Amino acid sequence: MTDGTPVTDSRVNGRQRGQIRVSPQVITARSPVTGAVLGQVAVATRLQVQDAMAEARLGRMAWDGIGLARRLSFIRALRDALYRQQDRIIGTLVAEQGKLQQEALLEYLATMEMVDFYVRQAERILAPQEVSVRLLPHRRHFVIRRPYGVVLVISPWNYPLYLSVGPIVAALTAGNSVLFKPSEYATQIGEAIAGVVAEAEFPDEVFHILHGYGEVGAMMIEAHPDHICFTGSVSTGKQIARAAAEKLIPVTLELGGKDAAIVLHDADIERAAAGIVWSGIFNAGQTCASVERVYADRRIADRLITAMKHVVEQYVQPPDGAPASLAALTTPAQRKVVESQVQEAVAAGAEVVTGGRWAADGSPFFMPTILTNVTPEMRICQEETFGPVILVVPVKDAAEAVRLSNASTFGLTASIWTEDRDYGLWLAERLQTGTVSINEHLLVSGVAEMPWGGVKESGYGRTQGAEGLLGMTYSQVVTVDRFRLPRALELFWYPYTPFKRALIRRGIHALYGPTWRDRLRALLP
Ligand code: NAD
Repeated sequence: MTDGTPVTDSRVNGRQRGQIRVSPQVITARSPVTGAVLGQVAVATRLQVQDAMAEARLGRMAWDGIGLARRLSFIRALRDALYRQQDRIIGTLVAEQGKLQQEALLEYLATMEMVDFYVRQAERILAPQEVSVRLLPHRRHFVIRRPYGVVLVISPWNYPLYLSVGPIVAALTAGNSVLFKPSEYATQIGEAIAGVVAEAEFPDEVFHILHGYGEVGAMMIEAHPDHICFTGSVSTGKQIARAAAEKLIPVTLELGGKDAAIVLHDADIERAAAGIVWSGIFNAGQTCASVERVYADRRIADRLITAMKHVVEQYVQPPDGAPASLAALTTPAQRKVVESQVQEAVAAGAEVVTGGRWAADGSPFFMPTILTNVTPEMRICQEETFGPVILVVPVKDAAEAVRLSNASTFGLTASIWTEDRDYGLWLAERLQTGTVSINEHLLVSGVAEMPWGGVKESGYGRTQGAEGLLGMTYSQVVTVDRFRLPRALELFWYPYTPFKRALIRRGIHALYGPTWRDRLRALLP
């Protein structure tokens, strides 16, 4: 620490142990809009990572042992603490990420709904399932859900509340203890999350926040958690998958996207324009599932572009020039990516319909941008932009739109805009993505009830919904005898006898004989 600002040291047990002065490496949180210092946190050391892991291991048996009903009383307390802390949390999202108040409010709403969903539904989702096994009818068989042990949650900065609280709560509900590493660009929201966990009075051992850059995340993997839930970029996701593979740690990877919206000739153009612009520009496009590519039937492409430009200029970038409904680009690295992709595309012949520049020199606001005349080999058509930039490409028909949508290394979500809902549903099955929406884009990315995740380089595994909770567990089969068979009828055990072989053979005829005659043979002497 260099400037005497108190450093929050909440690395151990997620408890804020006062504002103490320490000398190790720190991360200073700054507003991306004003540059004002918002706080500092200490970067965790290897020893602290190992200590946190040792405590989490120690605590996890007792946490699992208290049972779901008692764990849910803690989760309810966490929900209530989140509720009480809403002003601080929303204020932090606005200050630290440069979000708009309304967009921060939506992230908060989605987070509350996620927690409340698990409070309401966890008992149903995690309930043991009894399964009948026809080869072993004398036994009862159950599939029960067991927690992995210690779950490592690594989250990004773009929705740092939702993408952290969701997996943390799912992991804790299922009976795991949690190590949590927020993004280095979301340390203050990380602290706010640690604060609500502390307020809910979870046992000290079950939740640990550790701050730091990628190296701290890597150290946490070296400490050998039992499961990793990672949300972030493709390149980091690949590093994590490699590190986890060395130790055979199961991983859920929620990675980037290059989402396509397909607009068919019969779409309600005004509505499609409004929905696509919102989904592309929300949070300044810093959304894994934002619309980045639009494939529009060429019969309506010009009308769509005009309508999209109108929405941008009416609501997001009014004629007086001040962006009214536009969030900041949060990180310096992201600003470079957006600017360089747009500049390269324009230099290669792309046409700027609107935007394409910063609101002012040195501003963190990149004007909402619509580009046409783009070609597939341009970097902006292939790589994630993660900024308020939407490409519109005219296509000859739906088949070409589907082919171009699928011609991406990503596969997170896609949308189809049409008045023919049956055709839209049919087309949806041709798209290689984790989610397909008809006549909307992005709304289901933050709903508690639905599973969330992608295919291809958008990752694997699912968060949210029942699958998100089950993903924090492994299935364990438990089987118990209903009654005892005489030893002579324990067909699979020793001794092997002609009688048992005959019975097994009859069983095969009775169960799998292709005709009734074959099956009847089993009953004949
Ligand atoms: P990032 O990959 O740079 O960082 C994510 C997290 O990983 C951070 O906490 C970072 O410190 C940590 N990290 C970095 N290197 C690591 C390593 N070697 N080992 C362990 N941890 C490491 O991503 P970001 O810039 O914070 O987030 C933006 C990206 O996240 C975008 O690509 C976006 O599409 C993606 N994202 C995906 C989803 C989804 O649900 N699919 C949601 C939001 C964001």
